[in-house]
Amino acid sequence: MDLPTGPVIDGLGFARDGGRLAGAVSVNALLRLADVVSDDSGILDWCVLGERQADGKSYLHVTVVGELHLRCQRCLETMVWQLQAESSLQLVASGKELPDVDLIEEVADPIVAEKEMALLPLVEDEVLLALPIAPRHETCELPAPARDIGDKSPFARLAKLRIV
Ligand SMILES: [Zn+2]
Repeated sequence: MDLPTGPVIDGLGFARDGGRLAGAVSVNALLRLADVVSDDSGILDWCVLGERQADGKSYLHVTVVGELHLRCQRCLETMVWQLQAESSLQLVASGKELPDVDLIEEVADPIVAEKEMALLPLVEDEVLLALPIAPRHETCELPAPARDIGDKSPFARLAKLRIV
C-alpha cells in the first residue's frame, strides 16, 4: 500500500505565491502516530499557508486540528485529546546552511526547501511535536492492580506521589 503523501508543493514557489492548501487526513494514515494513540480512529483537519515576507524569508504555516485517542498514563484508559497545533517553518534554500535557532530569536523552525515537498509528513511532524509527553485525564484512578502493590515497591511510592 502506498502511503498517502498528500499534496506535493514546490516549497519556495508555494511561499512566493502565498499558496494555501487544506485537507483532512485519517489518523490511521499517519503511521508514526500508531505507537502513541490508543486507537487510530478519527480525522485531522490540516491547513498549510505559504508566505514570503518583505525581507525575503519564506515560510510555511502549518495548522492541524482534531481529536486523538491517547492512552492515559495514569489509568491506562483511552482519553480524548483535542489537538490544536500551529507552527511556522522557515524555508531555507537547499545548499544553504540552516540558521541556528538557538542563536537567533527565530520562532520558526528552519527546514530545507525542496522542489517537491509532500505536505502530509510535515503535518504529521507537527502532530508529533504537539503531543503531550504524559497524557492524563484530569481526574482518574490508577488501575486496581497498581493500587495493591505494597508500599515497599518504589513504583507504589511513585504512584502515590503522582496522584497528589
Ligand atoms: Zn486516566
